[in-house]
Amino acid sequence: MGGLKHIISTKQFLDTSILENLFLVANQMENEDKNKKIKQTLKGKILASLFYEPSTRTRFSFEVAIQKLGGKVITTESASHFSSVTKGESLQDTIKILQEYADVIILRHNKEGSAQIAADVSSVPIINAGDGAGEHPTQALLDIYTIKKEKGKINDLNIALVGDLLYGRTVHSLLNLLSLYSAIKIYLVSPPELKLPQKYKDVLIQENIQFEEVEDIKKILNKIDVIYVTRIQRERFLSQKEYEQVKGSYIINKEVIKSLKEDAIIMHPLPRVDEISPEVDDDKRAAYFRQARNGLYLRMALLHMLFNGELKQRRL
Ligand code: ASP
Repeated sequence: MGGLKHIISTKQFLDTSILENLFLVANQMENEDKNKKIKQTLKGKILASLFYEPSTRTRFSFEVAIQKLGGKVITTESASHFSSVTKGESLQDTIKILQEYADVIILRHNKEGSAQIAADVSSVPIINAGDGAGEHPTQALLDIYTIKKEKGKINDLNIALVGDLLYGRTVHSLLNLLSLYSAIKIYLVSPPELKLPQKYKDVLIQENIQFEEVEDIKKILNKIDVIYVTRIQRERFLSQKEYEQVKGSYIINKEVIKSLKEDAIIMHPLPRVDEISPEVDDDKRAAYFRQARNGLYLRMALLHMLFNGELKQRRL
């Protein structure tokens, strides 16, 4: 039995039992919150949020999560402007200072690999809240929790990941988790320029997960149970021209969802730009706002289990 200390990549999750435990605790958190009976298990703990890139859901939900559990927050809105990084301080030094003040650090950074660099020097847990085009593990945890909640299972589903599979870090993290399940089929839907990097495909191959790369979304709409739409990651493109060429590649509107199964669900890590028309929001299959809400409870569960040494798994 081993407990996780840092959450850097979803590759750290080696079996579904740890995920099932997380889901149980997240459910419990939601019930306790509804009944206004949340146990203050993290009283006295301080969470530092260190975000070098913008965030709405991840930062706010982590900050609310620890406070609901009795802890407190120290935060900088835009670390690249308001921390000593502007004076030339390194990420390592910033972490070495913050670990003296906080019990856990939530880090979002524009460079892939930065969360691992931080974890290498940190005595307190680092949670990767997105490292460039790398990963966003807690988003993937809440995504898979949402699939389980909405569909009642993860096995045996046809799942389409749509949009920017090259730079979309949430997709990268989600694929690692999906590869722990069986009998699923994954459709990778993207323009040729934004295909999934080979290293993530290798994980699917290694775990015997069936997948197919598709360009025309219409071909698969009637087959899928979960459609996971992503934003084209404009900030990762080298030039505006390249971005203009692929922007608006897939737009999910009322017309498109006519071909979706009645019990399919539509997900998006958000923010959306134009990939899902607001007219879709009222459709019962639109799960993206419920998904964002699940993020709060999943993150409460994650913090609670992390501090209590409960993030244990069978395989090591
Ligand atoms: N909020 C997600 C992320 O930070 C998705 C996105 O920005 O498109 O990766």
